[in-house]
Amino acid sequence: MIQLKGIGAAGGISIGAAYKLGKEEFVVLPEAITWEEIPVQIQLFEEALIKTRREIIELQKRISSGMGQEEAQIFDAHLLVLEDRMLIEEVISRLKKEQLNVVYIFSEVLKKYISVFLKIEDEYLKERIADINDVGKRILRNLLGKEKRGLDDLKEKAIIVSHDLSPSDTAAMHTKNVAGFVTDMGGKTSHTAIMAKSLEIPAVVGLEGVTAKVSSGDILIVDGNTGMVIINPDEETLKNYQQELVKLKGIAERFLSVKALPAVTTDGRAILINANIEFPDEVSSVKLHGSEGIGLYRTEFFYMNRKDSPSEEEHYQAYKYVAEQMSPHSVVIRTLDLGGDKFLSQFQIPHEMQPFLGWRAIRFCLARPDIFKLQLRAILRASVHGNLKLMYPMISGIEELRQANELLQEAKDELKQNGLEFNDKILVGVMIEVPSAAMTADILAKEADFFSIGTNDLIQYCLAVDRGNEKVAYLYEPAHPAVLRLIKQVIDAAHEAKIKVAMCGEMAGEPSLALILLGLGLDEFSVPPQVIPELKFIISAIGFKTVQAIANEAMKLSTGTQVGEFAQNKLVEILK
Ligand code: PEP
Ligand code: MG
Repeated sequence: MIQLKGIGAAGGISIGAAYKLGKEEFVVLPEAITWEEIPVQIQLFEEALIKTRREIIELQKRISSGMGQEEAQIFDAHLLVLEDRMLIEEVISRLKKEQLNVVYIFSEVLKKYISVFLKIEDEYLKERIADINDVGKRILRNLLGKEKRGLDDLKEKAIIVSHDLSPSDTAAMHTKNVAGFVTDMGGKTSHTAIMAKSLEIPAVVGLEGVTAKVSSGDILIVDGNTGMVIINPDEETLKNYQQELVKLKGIAERFLSVKALPAVTTDGRAILINANIEFPDEVSSVKLHGSEGIGLYRTEFFYMNRKDSPSEEEHYQAYKYVAEQMSPHSVVIRTLDLGGDKFLSQFQIPHEMQPFLGWRAIRFCLARPDIFKLQLRAILRASVHGNLKLMYPMISGIEELRQANELLQEAKDELKQNGLEFNDKILVGVMIEVPSAAMTADILAKEADFFSIGTNDLIQYCLAVDRGNEKVAYLYEPAHPAVLRLIKQVIDAAHEAKIKVAMCGEMAGEPSLALILLGLGLDEFSVPPQVIPELKFIISAIGFKTVQAIANEAMKLSTGTQVGEFAQNKLVEILK
């Protein structure tokens, strides 16, 4: 048995036999051609481009009717590569100059393009190499008159193991016997990952060396939730996962039946279920899982893996897209939360002994109003395109909130001076993730439009446990009585001031603890999209009075373990 850990690209568990899909390599050798043959070679090239274009449009149509418009749009990028004048002209001019066969010339130009992209240090552009590769291979295939490799040989359900998968490969899985897939390559933003989520095929990517370790026919367990892949599991592990799978399947069906409905308790209390995102293109998954809005849009990704800072226009376009896509539902944009474990090379922040307690999030933004206001202006400008709200991370007291709001006012004044439109009444929330903010929630509530509890940080600060340190991970307990008391204090203070409280930390997505949070009066949950159907199911299966009683009981317990067990037992009763 071998266990590997990669990046969970699409949730769910799958158990099955591996099917290795080889790398599709074309061996193309140079062949001299005569001057007279040049027009024929150019014609061959043009025909291959036309054929490839037809194939992509056909694929797009199939995907658009089978999966949706957005997934089909991924292939727009492929069509753009096909129309790239520079690429086409380079092939034709080299063909004339070098007098070599067009297949060879094209494969050389393609290699050059890819090597240029590989040198660019930008995660997004790197992922686009897959697009160029995908189209390039299609063109080569058509130039060589080869059949495309397919998943047609797959007679029984199997787990695909491949070095990489192109979006076309992934799209083709739609109707095939694919139970899951794992790849050596890939990141969270790869189109392959996006497709896998839409198709709800459990997938783990970025699992370096997996193709070298797996043979076709090996038994694999793919856990897309945790990113774990187990090769040839021992009997006990297999049995545990099989049991888990049966359980998950049964309940998933029940959950999905309610995903499109609002979450209302049996006695009529409506709870808003939102999703957390980091990238604009997650919007499709958010909708697919029945989310009512976005409760946390982390914006740090704009700044990552690049040397320069994003422009106001780039921010604006992304926020506008998300606002329009989700409208009329609300989208809460969290302003830049750099620092802690999120380092951004372009700002050259000095190394700190305790980065989580250091110059991060709102502290950094208040010290760098140039960077902060640029983002605020973009959020404000995008606010006319939908229902946008904003919130500040890591507020530790009222003074920080006031300073941030002053800069927000300056950003508004600047837009007014430039005659740019924005929603002057945009709601401004405070993330409660520092214990001092939780303890002074009554003071903050008077000047905030809403709260969102960031438990990922709140727990680490409350319990003095570094959230990223595996040695003290056993102490990181969301159900710890101290954490529950802080949360209760925040909810009570907010309700006293008649403002709503959401929770966007991972704790909100733990179904058993959701019972306690509901009982404490939490108004909104913001969770990873996949958890939404389950949360909706639980909420609609229980009365508010019952969860209030559960919360009361839980608050009397003395340890996190006791609370956790108690909540789990209650959940099992509900799900029976
Ligand atoms: C949190 O701290 O709970 C939170 C949602 O923010 P992040 O995980 O981005 O720090
Ligand atoms: Mg946080």
